[in-house]
Amino acid sequence: MKVIVDLALCQDHGQCAIAAPEVFQINDEGHLEYDATPDEAMREYVEEAADVCPVQAILVEG
Ligand code: SF4
Repeated sequence: MKVIVDLALCQDHGQCAIAAPEVFQINDEGHLEYDATPDEAMREYVEEAADVCPVQAILVEG
């Protein structure tokens, strides 16, 4: 599974980090960091994160 976040769209509010905290985090500067190749076991949470992103910035491939 590959995760791509369009950082031009992302507004760093962190809904994804609540849905899938092992994959998405808001860093100390207040910006999104994420694991672009999370374990398959994270799929359910990553898809939830993509669903809750208010600007639909999260793309899940594979
Ligand atoms: S939920 Fe979407 S807009 Fe918010 S931090 Fe995550 S990727 Fe960015």
